[in-house]
Amino acid sequence: MQTVTTAAARAWCRKTNGVDWHKTSAAARKKQLARARAVLADEAADAIRCAICLDKEKTVVVVPCGHKCMCVACAKQLQASSAPRCPLCRGALERITRVFE
Ligand SMILES: [Zn+2]
Ligand SMILES: [Zn+2]
Repeated sequence: MQTVTTAAARAWCRKTNGVDWHKTSAAARKKQLARARAVLADEAADAIRCAICLDKEKTVVVVPCGHKCMCVACAKQLQASSAPRCPLCRGALERITRVFE
């Protein structure tokens, strides 16, 4: 689970619901923040998950478009297909590159 800062959660509330923080009751604030945290944590998890299996972490970059969007297993499987394309932009997949952080 990703950690979401209170500041980020508040910013989300403001952006999403236009909440006037100072006029909101404590109970409503708590509810809003919990919702914000759940959404933000989910987005953060999505940002690192493979676009194909939605399970493993993405560690492969598609060349030449440069999208980092897949895990190695999915990339290899895709590469083995007859006309491999990037799952994000549908651009031709010439090769894949493993990235290490
Ligand atoms: Zn995958
Ligand atoms: Zn792409």
